[in-house]
Amino acid sequence: MSGRAAPPRVLTVAGSDSGGGAGVQADLKTMLALGVHGMSVLTAVTAQNSLGVQGAWELPVEAVRAQYRSVVDDIGVQAVKTGMLSSAELVEAVSDLIAGTDAPAVVDPVGVSKHGDPLLASSALDSVRTRLLPVATVATPNLDEVAQLTDIRVESERDLRRAAEAVLAFGPRWVVIKGGHLSGDAVDLLTDGSEEHWLRAPRHDNRHTHGTGCTLASAIASELAKGRSVPEAVRAAKDYVTGAIASGFALGAGIGPVHHGW
Ligand code: PLP
Repeated sequence: MSGRAAPPRVLTVAGSDSGGGAGVQADLKTMLALGVHGMSVLTAVTAQNSLGVQGAWELPVEAVRAQYRSVVDDIGVQAVKTGMLSSAELVEAVSDLIAGTDAPAVVDPVGVSKHGDPLLASSALDSVRTRLLPVATVATPNLDEVAQLTDIRVESERDLRRAAEAVLAFGPRWVVIKGGHLSGDAVDLLTDGSEEHWLRAPRHDNRHTHGTGCTLASAIASELAKGRSVPEAVRAAKDYVTGAIASGFALGAGIGPVHHGW
């Protein structure tokens, strides 16, 4: 038997969330829901639940490189997504791997979790600016990450364009500035410096949003792997994450996860 035709293949390079709400676990759930074959390169393991991150352990850089080579050299990828990269050494190694891979890369420049737990060393910020963002097809910073990377504090929708220009100056082809932490509608700005797409969704009154950022970036990567353009992929991903937030559920004593496969 030859089996059915393989679906598009998408690789996440990210950390594990033992609680299953964010990180690699959210990425693989998103990929399953969107009909692509999900694969993972683990960069770090976190002990984590609805209350926050209780511990984090980085993998050796050789282990990250070996996982990546195993996947890309045999199976191949139509898109790559990066999440928690933890240290400057890992950021630089992953940037080099992506630069040598012929597939679009969605970079979620993960800095700090919603609970305020650091997922990236502050000494790695410069490597994100100078090594990782230049190899990104799409970068997806939230407003805290924009502040960390550019010193721009976005306080209203009007500041989003200035934030996008500052992130684009580091070299990604496209940027999605996630304005979800502003009040009012959840507004994101997607731009490549010439085209602008404002993506607006009604705000859901639901605090169970753990894993939102991971889910959006993985959904963009999944849609790119299917051959969609960046604007089409980001619109479809925004719809997916809006549905996932709407059906986020309580779990444990803290913040529950967004829900996949609704
Ligand atoms: N844990 C891991 C491993 C992550 O990669 C991320 C985000 O990228 C988080 C936790 C934080 O998720 P959130 O800020 O949605 O709670």
